[in-house]
Amino acid sequence: MRKLKYIRPSYYTDFTCIAGECEDNCCMGWFVDLDDRTYRKYQKIRHPELTPIIQQTVRRNEQCDAPEINYATVRLTKQQNCAFLDDHRLCRIQAAYGESYLSNVCSLYPRIINQVNGRIEMSLSASCPEALRKYLFLEDGIVFEEGVAAMRLPIITYDVFQRAPKYAGTPVADLKLIREVSNDILSDRDLSFAERLFVLGDYLWQARKDPRRKKMIMPSKTVFSELWKSDFVRMAFQNLDVDKQIVSKRYRKWHFHARDFYEHASKDALKSAEKLFSDYFNHHVYVFENYFVNLSFRNLFPFTEVDDIFDAYCLFVMRYGMMAYDLIGNVGSGVILDQSSLIEYFQSFSKAIEHHQHFFQSFVLQLQSERLNNWKYISRL
Ligand code: SF4
Repeated sequence: MRKLKYIRPSYYTDFTCIAGECEDNCCMGWFVDLDDRTYRKYQKIRHPELTPIIQQTVRRNEQCDAPEINYATVRLTKQQNCAFLDDHRLCRIQAAYGESYLSNVCSLYPRIINQVNGRIEMSLSASCPEALRKYLFLEDGIVFEEGVAAMRLPIITYDVFQRAPKYAGTPVADLKLIREVSNDILSDRDLSFAERLFVLGDYLWQARKDPRRKKMIMPSKTVFSELWKSDFVRMAFQNLDVDKQIVSKRYRKWHFHARDFYEHASKDALKSAEKLFSDYFNHHVYVFENYFVNLSFRNLFPFTEVDDIFDAYCLFVMRYGMMAYDLIGNVGSGVILDQSSLIEYFQSFSKAIEHHQHFFQSFVLQLQSERLNNWKYISRL
């Protein structure tokens, strides 16, 4: 155990996994990664029920790039579940041998731990519905708390030290400042969420050259109002290919519902759906704010996913546009926006998108090849 400085959102300690009561399940539709120690433990298990499952489904991962995370994988069942789940969707390994037999990924999820400039940053992933319930509807926004605690060094997802010589002369050398300004813009309640997104783009485009830039642009009230029906969002959905690539029934239901609506909607129906969407989110400004502030903190935005900070911003705009497309389409066909429906939507979107193996890279490559990852193009969407 070491004494470590940490920062975490205050909701962090409220989370407990609800296991069999969960409406989704973290093992559903994903590869289940095993670290090297857990893999070796499983090879030694002699159990009438578990040994055959281990022999049939646990395989070494040829693409392993971090043995403490993805040394091996558990093949999913036809229903896209982890093979170790029982009929009550509880983990048979945990039931037979206790929590110490869970892999690093299984025992940590949905917690995400990063280390930035030597300080531990803890957060929860929106892909877990119970985690999302802890923060999506916090009316006062996400509050962070700092401290020092004795802890065993956990599995770190991102570990960055901005003063490392390799970052000299790159935006990473100003990581702390750029993250603080980005968080302030995303949390600015004087602006609608679309306006904040616009101001953020203007800042990050300039921040590649001068992160200390003070002047902020004043956006017009209509910024990004057409984003959801733009070619940019259409390209993103084509790239994601929900029909073939997304197995989550929860997300597919929302997306196909929206598509059905757009196929038959009159101009008036579209207008009224757009109005219902903007009325709801202008009244509940904290919903998109909480989702993106949390995402930004857990992903070290704009320093992960892709190499360039403005490309990372394009992925934020993409997410907002895709969400607006799905939600406007659903509102138009009669879905009521409330806490329960939005937890389902935001969680299923997050699970479909955030853990996709190559979608972000592939979309950014497309933007780069068509020369669309620039502020002139994005600011006109
Ligand atoms: S998704 Fe979250 S609440 Fe559901 S089983 Fe996984 S960790 Fe538990």
